[in-house]
Amino acid sequence: MSRFLLLCFALAGSTLAAAEAPKSQVVITTPALLTLRNQLMYLTISNENARYEVYWSYPPNYDRPVVLESNRVYTFTVIGEPINDCPSLVVPRVVRVEKDGKMLYDREICDVHHIRMERKEVPILYGLILPGLGEPGGDTAQRLFPHRYETRLGGCCVTPTSPKTDKVYVCSECKKAYANWNANTKPEKPAAASRRSPFR
Ligand SMILES: [Zn+2]
Repeated sequence: MSRFLLLCFALAGSTLAAAEAPKSQVVITTPALLTLRNQLMYLTISNENARYEVYWSYPPNYDRPVVLESNRVYTFTVIGEPINDCPSLVVPRVVRVEKDGKMLYDREICDVHHIRMERKEVPILYGLILPGLGEPGGDTAQRLFPHRYETRLGGCCVTPTSPKTDKVYVCSECKKAYANWNANTKPEKPAAASRRSPFR
């Protein structure tokens, strides 16, 4: 099963598993309860009033916003947000994680450049999209410029009702870092391998 399909099930599953997504932002301080189920890691956040189960990562670390120690106490800020592919489904999402008063994760802040990012509506690309030759590997992109993309990958399944756009956070410094890497680090490309990357 493709990672994209797994993520679709994860998002839909989190809605079914959780009581419901919060109607407004909630802040809950609780131990991190991480559970591996159907190849995906879920985070359960609960207090005496609510319980939310959130898709957390595709092991070992794809999609993971921040490293959490299981059963360590954190303060989670959770919102309810519709799934782009199915706007009637609202799922809980973690937007901030604090530990001992220190912000570990804020989805609006670039984790590499520590600046506030811009929320942009971007096109969704469907089909098998492969990085062009000479493009940075996933590890390099994640380490140096993880938030440069102004597209989102939509997987291989597309229907007439599939959404055409989605909203992502874009970091201006990540874009500059990629441009710098492209100019100074990018290996020489063979002439036949000069197709344009869809990620640009
Ligand atoms: Zn950045």
